[in-house]
Amino acid sequence: MPSSKNPPPITGTAFLDTPLKNLEWFPPQRARALERFGLRTVEDLLTHYPRRYEDRREFDRFPHDETEKPVCICGQVIKTASRRFKGWRFMFDATIQETSPDGEPNMLSPQIICRWYNVHFVRKMIATGMRLVVYGRPRRRGRQMVIEHPEFEVVEPDAEEASIHLRRITPVHPATEGITPRMLRAWIHRLLAVLPDVPSPLPAGMAGMPYADALRAAHFPEDWEALHAARRDLVLAEFFQMQLFICARRAEVVLQPGQAHCGAGRLLEAFQNELPFPLTGAQHRAVAEIRGDLASPRPMNRLLHGDVGSGKTVVALSAMLLAVEAGFQAALMAPTQILAEQHYLNFKKWLEPLGVRIALRTGSRKEETGAMPLFDDQAWSAAVREGDEAQRAELIQKGAGSEPQIIVGTHALLYEGAPLANLGLAVIDEQHKFGVLQRAALTKRTPVPDVLVMTATPIPRTLTMTLFGDLDVSTLDELPANRGKIITAARDGTKLPDAIAFIKDHLARGRQAYVVYPLIDESAKLEAKAAAAEFEKWREVFAPLRCELLHGRIPPEEKDAIMGRFRRNESQVLVATTVIEVGIDVPNANIMLIENAERFGLAQLHQLRGRVGRGTHKSYCILIHALADDLTPEGKDKMATLEATSNGFEIAEADLRLRGPGDILGTDQSGLPPLKIGDVLGDTDLMQTARETAQRLFAADPQLALPENQRFRKRLAETRKMILSRVS
Ligand code: ADP
Ligand code: MG
Repeated sequence: MPSSKNPPPITGTAFLDTPLKNLEWFPPQRARALERFGLRTVEDLLTHYPRRYEDRREFDRFPHDETEKPVCICGQVIKTASRRFKGWRFMFDATIQETSPDGEPNMLSPQIICRWYNVHFVRKMIATGMRLVVYGRPRRRGRQMVIEHPEFEVVEPDAEEASIHLRRITPVHPATEGITPRMLRAWIHRLLAVLPDVPSPLPAGMAGMPYADALRAAHFPEDWEALHAARRDLVLAEFFQMQLFICARRAEVVLQPGQAHCGAGRLLEAFQNELPFPLTGAQHRAVAEIRGDLASPRPMNRLLHGDVGSGKTVVALSAMLLAVEAGFQAALMAPTQILAEQHYLNFKKWLEPLGVRIALRTGSRKEETGAMPLFDDQAWSAAVREGDEAQRAELIQKGAGSEPQIIVGTHALLYEGAPLANLGLAVIDEQHKFGVLQRAALTKRTPVPDVLVMTATPIPRTLTMTLFGDLDVSTLDELPANRGKIITAARDGTKLPDAIAFIKDHLARGRQAYVVYPLIDESAKLEAKAAAAEFEKWREVFAPLRCELLHGRIPPEEKDAIMGRFRRNESQVLVATTVIEVGIDVPNANIMLIENAERFGLAQLHQLRGRVGRGTHKSYCILIHALADDLTPEGKDKMATLEATSNGFEIAEADLRLRGPGDILGTDQSGLPPLKIGDVLGDTDLMQTARETAQRLFAADPQLALPENQRFRKRLAETRKMILSRVS
């Protein structure tokens, strides 16, 4: 507790910012250890939240039998034993007996053995006569009840004990080498006891209680309701900070000088009239949203997401045509060569009649320009604007001018070849990668082009509010009406012959099929070899039909040829690695067989499956997986989810849950501040609240000059510095 020697009372903010090593009572060596653990200041330690709580107001009774849920028990060590096995293996047992709250042994309760293998330090910590708090799952071993490798704490016979460590809901904090949860608990308790009033990181009216009280209750709650209420405030505070960070990051782009890149829409109209299908409602909505952005001088920074096959490409091309009509170039960047080429071919087919010049530019090959007559851009643009069909046709016929208006390529497009001098719109068609770097490279030019990012799969709301929180979002939540259904069946390897018979039957009726399998080996040589071996097998299976092999190591020209033959139905089966994952579109192919399916990620499987069901034929996806006994619970879960639903939004959520919170924000890559207490999956509603509030406050005052909250402003300044250093 603070002694009279302590300096005069300091403000709450200064107290929170105090380095632990400057506290008189803090053991210097421990302060150094904590610093290595990432805890430097008082606030760092006070926001080091418990990973769980033990209700030590009333311990569990010593169990007579196994339990699924861990128990938290307290008892006295009545004997210890060490045993050494052959070699270096070593076992330590501490047998404990239940005691009453004041330490009287309860002779009637069963004894429990706490057992450790090869953990030498435990032997030095535990001796007969000590009292222990033990947490773990009891297992029956013969006639004994054993808890293997329990978490435990030695109950010290001092006065502090009862008030801090026992007879309450007790926090258990994440610990590290040389620092025990017990030490952390004692230090945090001591800090909380002297914590002055501290300014809330939440704006006025949002917090349910003073910040200091929330911190106290988060570590040492009176009861579960108090914990719940405190947690709400702290999660909100954390989310609010994150959302401000996102607002600031967004402002970095939006406040750059941009310009409008939007034509009147005649070219767009001509294109849409030419399409063999009407746009879906969702597509219309997305085009309208993008159009609004293009027409505004504020730089567009928009995300377009939707399920596989929801028709993102048509939306992107519509946007590109608006920019072209306004006299700018538009570029589309695809994640792979194959995909870039496919887009190019489609675009060429659609754009040639409109007289739009299009070029393909990828890293590994020279620029290829569509067989397009060259003509006078300005006159052409004017003809488009005025809707003068005759003049437009005449100009196309005559030809003049040079630069392509639409450029399709891989991401290399950004870095290689002649710079696109007149770029008005960049569309980034990416897989799952978040393209932060590409976006940064684009938005560093002046004037900034408008940027549209497309993802291959839908993005759960949790992520559109965080990882993609600095983008405006358009969602394609509707599939084109003519889609055939995809039936998905997960079967173990013994059913492979049936699956093959089924596929052959469909091939005989004129359909085509994909066979996909994962390659785990990363070495180029081995990959090619494994792929080739696998392929031989399949070729024999489907002979005399034509079967071709596609994998990442095949040279681009050859790949093109292979894809071309499959598209034209000159080959009937495509055996492939995941290179077909992205965007490949062959409507006549209606069956996909995926081998070793459990090795793929859930979202990836859904993405793969999206290669079929593109035409009007009923489609099938057969997932061949390991025998049920060899499947992990996660693997089973994946297979069941895919069989149950083909809704990409549901699958994306399930995928996030399977991968767990650590993987979700991938903090380093995303540049977002790490979360200490909030759960992006579980606390979506709080995130929404925090987001709305942050946006409102930020819009009212981009500097966020909250005079009553200096601390807050300092944070924002730091945040911005961090953003700038990341972007450059
Ligand atoms: P994704 O969103 O997965 O990228 P694509 O843009 O590749 O989907 O579109 C998938 C297929 O659906 C393409 O063949 C495309 O031409 C077609 N398509 C797009 N929009 C529609 C629509 N409104 N009606 C019918 N088919 C459409
Ligand atoms: Mg696509």
